[in-house]
Amino acid sequence: MPILTNYATVTAGPIIANDISAPAHEVAHRCNLWHFDRKGNLLYPKNSRTHPYWLMRWQRNYLRDSRHVIYLF
Ligand SMILES: [Zn+2]
Repeated sequence: MPILTNYATVTAGPIIANDISAPAHEVAHRCNLWHFDRKGNLLYPKNSRTHPYWLMRWQRNYLRDSRHVIYLF
């Protein structure tokens, strides 16, 4: 996980069909979030996350505060 980049590279091999958690996890890293050790959390560090994926309220706030998130009204 490079810290100083604003892009994420995800290889298609480990992504299981209909499982968007791997790319969503990497995008969340680019939006200021780091690993969180609770299974089912989108930032759980292993690919054994369980659906439905969730974020803590403070994680949602960090994500919303990212420079990559723009609100359109
Ligand atoms: Zn990660």
